[in-house]
Amino acid sequence: MVQRAVVAMMEHETNTFSPVPTPLTRFGRHSEGVPRGEEVVEQYGGTGTGIGAFIEVAQSAGMELVTPIAGNAAPSGKVDREAYRIMTDTIVDAVSAGCDSLFLDLHGAMVTQDHDDGEGALLARVRQIAPDLPIAISLDLHANMTDDIVDNCTVLVGYKTYPHMDMYEAGLHSGRLLLRAMAGEIDPVMVWDSRPILAQTLRMGHDDRPMGPLIAQARQAEADGLLAASVFGGFPLADVPFAGVSVVTIADGSQRRAEEVRDQILGAAWEERAEFVFGDEPLEESIARAAQLDEGPIILLDHADNTASGGTQDTNAVLAEVIRQGLDDVAMFAIYDPEVVDQMFAAGEGAEITVSLGGKTDMPTIGRVGEPLEVTGQVAALTDGTFEITVAMGRGTRASMGRSALLDTGRVQIVVVSRHTEPNDLGHFRSFGVEPTEKRYLILKSRIHYRAGFAPIAKHTIPCNGVGVTSSDNSLFRFENIRRPIYPLDPDCPEVS
Ligand SMILES: [Zn+2]
Repeated sequence: MVQRAVVAMMEHETNTFSPVPTPLTRFGRHSEGVPRGEEVVEQYGGTGTGIGAFIEVAQSAGMELVTPIAGNAAPSGKVDREAYRIMTDTIVDAVSAGCDSLFLDLHGAMVTQDHDDGEGALLARVRQIAPDLPIAISLDLHANMTDDIVDNCTVLVGYKTYPHMDMYEAGLHSGRLLLRAMAGEIDPVMVWDSRPILAQTLRMGHDDRPMGPLIAQARQAEADGLLAASVFGGFPLADVPFAGVSVVTIADGSQRRAEEVRDQILGAAWEERAEFVFGDEPLEESIARAAQLDEGPIILLDHADNTASGGTQDTNAVLAEVIRQGLDDVAMFAIYDPEVVDQMFAAGEGAEITVSLGGKTDMPTIGRVGEPLEVTGQVAALTDGTFEITVAMGRGTRASMGRSALLDTGRVQIVVVSRHTEPNDLGHFRSFGVEPTEKRYLILKSRIHYRAGFAPIAKHTIPCNGVGVTSSDNSLFRFENIRRPIYPLDPDCPEVS
């Protein structure tokens, strides 16, 4: 008898300090809404994503594929109650209808209006109706791990890269483990633990300390026969009790072996905890430093308003300072401002226009109101905001920036988008006719994901501490629900708190 596999995605990294709302429409990358059924396979089959890998694994095992829904929203504030209900009901209904396995592409740091742990609540619900169902999940490196996630799935594998270039590999890894477990070839024993470290995502790049060596340990353990080892840096802008660094390991039949590797990696993470703290310099100094450099492209990283960590993507501090200090030959990706996009479309290509750019969103959690910037320039390009992603991160999927436009002030070319988008592919400029390799400066509202496409062309990268709800300055945020003590908020925090 042909086995039936349910394959679905529900991805969102929730910044509980972000004022950006998260309704259901945000979970569809394109105007047609959140893909369901056949649309899921059309949009994600053959792509470099976790769900793309799960589709492939189930199909190659000859399973009948059921794809109820694939929701993936850019990071923002707490997920709307109704959006969460619809996505989870759709997945649970598909399981209830009868299946032999479940493959879920999840994030691991979803907070909803009702649940601190959106993924754990979904998995616990599935477990209730299907106690013995084999379940494989893939998770983001920024997952904040919980018992509800680990206890309610059979196998889980997290990304080992940031930027996330191995979403597909993590899905493949997890999916194949599940097939082997279903065939009785392995007996996966999964354990996890965490350390009280509120790590900065700016310090989680896989090429850098401390994540690089920790991930290398995980890979080595897998090379030595462990079924899987996943290191999670966690997502620090989530004011929930389980935010922090964690490790999940899966051994074949041996709890002791799984615990041994887990504790080794966590011990090393604790030793390196000071490396998880990002130190910054004043914005004026960063831009002044950039002005002294000759060889471009020089990346100016507007990381306090990082789109894919829940930034409003419309703060102007870095752009304003670049203009004030007179930097020339600059391109920026991007300011989120659908109103300005509309004005530019109305004005038409080639028109001279003065706009009140960005600053439309207040940020009450950090005590800031939006500050628009008056900018005059030419409407240099108008696009529908789509192109095909070619970097490993999301390869084959379509970028969905919404209707977008390019404003050229003469010195600065500013991309203006109507859907929140973090730049990680040269197409984010080229689709507007801007050649990023030829620019002296590129302002990017990003933290690490830009590296997927821009690291190979960047001569220098300068972190610029602007304004936003993804700041690396912990003192800006009022944490009320995270565990205490936690490093570095409590510098003398013990290893086990
Ligand atoms: Zn992530």
